[in-house]
Amino acid sequence: MNEMILKFPAKSENEVFARNAVAAFVLPLNPSLSDLSDVKTAVSEAVTNCIVHGYRDAEGWVTVVCRTEGPRLEVEISDEGRGIEDVPRALTPFFTTLPGEERSGMGFTIMQTFMTEFSVESAAGKGTKVRMSKDFSARRMNAG
Ligand code: ATP
Ligand code: MG
Repeated sequence: MNEMILKFPAKSENEVFARNAVAAFVLPLNPSLSDLSDVKTAVSEAVTNCIVHGYRDAEGWVTVVCRTEGPRLEVEISDEGRGIEDVPRALTPFFTTLPGEERSGMGFTIMQTFMTEFSVESAAGKGTKVRMSKDFSARRMNAG
Protein backbone atom coordinates (compact mmCIF):
# COMPACT_ATOMS: atom_id res chain seq x y z
CA MET A 1 0.00 0.00 0.00
CA ASN A 2 1.19 3.49 -0.83
CA GLU A 3 -0.55 6.83 -0.37
CA MET A 4 -0.20 10.51 -1.18
CA ILE A 5 -2.15 13.70 -0.55
CA LEU A 6 -1.86 16.74 -2.76
CA LYS A 7 -3.49 20.08 -1.97
CA PHE A 8 -3.22 23.12 -4.22
CA PRO A 9 -5.07 26.37 -5.03
CA ALA A 10 -7.81 26.14 -7.66
CA LYS A 11 -5.81 27.71 -10.48
CA SER A 12 -6.05 26.38 -14.00
CA GLU A 13 -2.26 26.04 -14.32
CA ASN A 14 -2.32 23.48 -11.47
CA GLU A 15 -4.42 21.04 -13.54
CA VAL A 16 -1.35 19.96 -15.56
CA PHE A 17 0.67 19.64 -12.36
CA ALA A 18 -2.03 17.50 -10.69
CA ARG A 19 -2.48 15.04 -13.55
CA ASN A 20 1.27 14.57 -13.95
CA ALA A 21 1.76 14.15 -10.19
CA VAL A 22 -0.82 11.33 -10.13
CA ALA A 23 0.82 9.76 -13.20
CA ALA A 24 4.23 9.90 -11.49
CA PHE A 25 2.74 8.37 -8.33
CA VAL A 26 1.42 5.28 -10.18
CA LEU A 27 4.59 4.68 -12.25
CA PRO A 28 5.90 2.02 -9.79
CA LEU A 29 2.85 -0.07 -10.77
CA ASN A 30 4.30 -0.27 -14.29
CA PRO A 31 1.05 0.85 -15.98
CA SER A 32 0.60 0.65 -19.74
CA LEU A 33 0.74 3.98 -21.59
CA SER A 34 -2.94 3.56 -22.32
CA ASP A 35 -3.87 3.08 -18.63
CA LEU A 36 -1.65 6.02 -17.68
CA SER A 37 -3.28 8.23 -20.26
CA ASP A 38 -6.78 7.22 -19.03
CA VAL A 39 -5.87 8.17 -15.45
CA LYS A 40 -4.40 11.51 -16.52
CA THR A 41 -7.50 12.36 -18.53
CA ALA A 42 -9.87 11.44 -15.67
CA VAL A 43 -7.84 13.44 -13.10
CA SER A 44 -7.69 16.38 -15.47
CA GLU A 45 -11.50 16.39 -15.90
CA ALA A 46 -12.15 16.14 -12.14
CA VAL A 47 -9.64 18.87 -11.22
CA THR A 48 -10.95 21.17 -13.96
CA ASN A 49 -14.48 20.69 -12.58
CA CYS A 50 -13.34 21.77 -9.09
CA ILE A 51 -11.76 24.91 -10.55
CA VAL A 52 -14.43 26.00 -13.05
CA HIS A 53 -17.62 24.75 -11.33
CA GLY A 54 -16.71 24.24 -7.65
CA TYR A 55 -15.07 27.62 -7.26
CA ARG A 56 -16.15 29.37 -10.50
CA ASP A 57 -12.58 30.65 -10.80
CA ALA A 58 -12.68 32.17 -7.30
CA GLU A 59 -10.15 31.14 -4.63
CA GLY A 60 -10.23 27.75 -2.96
CA TRP A 61 -8.31 24.53 -2.44
CA VAL A 62 -8.42 21.32 -4.44
CA THR A 63 -7.39 18.09 -2.69
CA VAL A 64 -6.22 14.94 -4.46
CA VAL A 65 -5.79 11.78 -2.40
CA CYS A 66 -4.23 8.72 -4.08
CA ARG A 67 -3.82 5.18 -2.83
CA THR A 68 -2.29 2.18 -4.55
CA GLU A 69 -2.82 -1.41 -3.48
CA GLY A 70 -1.47 -4.13 -5.77
CA PRO A 71 -2.44 -3.26 -9.37
CA ARG A 72 -5.18 -0.88 -8.22
CA LEU A 73 -5.24 2.92 -7.94
CA GLU A 74 -7.84 4.84 -5.93
CA VAL A 75 -8.13 8.61 -6.39
CA GLU A 76 -10.34 11.08 -4.52
CA ILE A 77 -10.57 14.60 -5.88
CA SER A 78 -12.47 17.16 -3.83
CA ASP A 79 -13.31 20.82 -3.45
CA GLU A 80 -15.14 22.84 -0.80
CA GLY A 81 -17.01 24.93 -3.35
CA ARG A 82 -20.59 25.36 -4.52
CA GLY A 83 -21.52 21.69 -4.69
CA ILE A 84 -23.97 20.03 -7.10
CA GLU A 85 -27.72 20.35 -6.58
CA ASP A 86 -28.75 17.34 -8.65
CA VAL A 87 -25.99 14.75 -9.06
CA PRO A 88 -27.85 12.31 -11.39
CA ARG A 89 -28.64 15.20 -13.73
CA ALA A 90 -25.00 16.38 -13.64
CA LEU A 91 -23.90 12.87 -14.64
CA THR A 92 -26.06 12.90 -17.78
CA PRO A 93 -23.93 13.05 -20.95
CA PHE A 94 -23.87 16.56 -22.47
CA PHE A 95 -25.44 18.17 -19.37
CA THR A 96 -23.58 21.35 -18.43
CA THR A 97 -24.40 24.41 -16.36
CA LEU A 98 -21.88 26.45 -18.36
CA PRO A 99 -23.14 26.13 -21.94
CA GLY A 100 -21.81 28.41 -24.63
CA GLU A 101 -18.31 28.37 -23.19
CA GLU A 102 -15.84 25.63 -24.04
CA ARG A 103 -17.75 23.13 -21.83
CA SER A 104 -19.41 20.17 -23.52
CA GLY A 105 -20.90 18.38 -20.49
CA MET A 106 -18.76 15.27 -21.05
CA GLY A 107 -16.34 15.41 -18.10
CA PHE A 108 -18.18 12.96 -15.82
CA THR A 109 -18.92 10.66 -18.76
CA ILE A 110 -15.20 10.59 -19.62
CA MET A 111 -14.27 9.79 -15.99
CA GLN A 112 -16.81 6.93 -15.92
CA THR A 113 -15.56 5.54 -19.22
CA PHE A 114 -11.83 5.71 -18.47
CA MET A 115 -11.87 4.45 -14.87
CA THR A 116 -13.01 1.10 -13.42
CA GLU A 117 -15.14 2.59 -10.63
CA PHE A 118 -16.57 6.07 -10.25
CA SER A 119 -18.83 7.85 -7.75
CA VAL A 120 -19.70 11.42 -6.76
CA GLU A 121 -20.69 12.80 -3.38
CA SER A 122 -21.81 16.41 -3.26
CA ALA A 123 -23.77 18.84 -1.12
CA ALA A 124 -24.92 22.25 -2.31
CA GLY A 125 -22.82 24.96 -0.66
CA LYS A 126 -20.41 22.45 0.86
CA GLY A 127 -18.45 20.92 -1.96
CA THR A 128 -17.93 17.90 -4.14
CA LYS A 129 -15.86 14.73 -3.89
CA VAL A 130 -15.25 12.40 -6.83
CA ARG A 131 -13.97 8.91 -6.06
CA MET A 132 -12.45 6.83 -8.82
CA SER A 133 -10.44 3.66 -9.06
CA LYS A 134 -8.63 1.86 -11.82
CA ASP A 135 -7.37 -1.70 -11.99
CA PHE A 136 -4.30 -1.66 -14.18
CA SER A 137 -4.26 -4.39 -16.76
CA ALA A 138 -1.73 -7.16 -16.17
CA ARG A 139 1.49 -6.64 -18.13
CA ARG A 140 4.44 -8.81 -18.86
CA MET A 141 7.50 -7.38 -17.15
CA ASN A 142 9.94 -5.83 -19.57
CA ALA A 143 13.33 -7.48 -19.86
CA GLY A 144 15.09 -4.11 -19.89
P1 ATP B 1 -16.84 19.49 -19.82
O1 ATP B 1 -16.32 18.68 -18.65
O2 ATP B 1 -17.19 18.65 -20.99
O3 ATP B 1 -15.95 20.64 -20.16
P2 ATP B 1 -18.83 20.17 -17.88
O4 ATP B 1 -17.73 20.41 -16.91
O5 ATP B 1 -20.00 21.10 -17.80
O6 ATP B 1 -18.24 20.17 -19.37
P3 ATP B 1 -19.10 17.63 -16.56
O7 ATP B 1 -17.66 17.64 -16.18
O8 ATP B 1 -19.70 16.33 -16.99
O9 ATP B 1 -19.39 18.67 -17.74
O10 ATP B 1 -19.96 18.20 -15.33
C1 ATP B 1 -21.37 18.32 -15.48
C2 ATP B 1 -21.92 19.41 -14.58
O11 ATP B 1 -21.77 19.01 -13.22
C3 ATP B 1 -21.20 20.74 -14.67
O12 ATP B 1 -21.68 21.53 -15.74
C4 ATP B 1 -21.52 21.36 -13.31
O13 ATP B 1 -22.81 21.91 -13.27
C5 ATP B 1 -21.52 20.14 -12.39
N1 ATP B 1 -20.23 19.94 -11.68
C6 ATP B 1 -19.25 19.07 -12.03
N2 ATP B 1 -18.24 19.12 -11.15
C7 ATP B 1 -18.57 20.04 -10.22
C8 ATP B 1 -17.93 20.55 -9.03
N3 ATP B 1 -16.74 20.11 -8.63
N4 ATP B 1 -18.59 21.50 -8.31
C9 ATP B 1 -19.81 21.96 -8.71
N5 ATP B 1 -20.47 21.52 -9.81
C10 ATP B 1 -19.86 20.58 -10.56
MG1 MG C 1 -16.15 19.10 -16.68
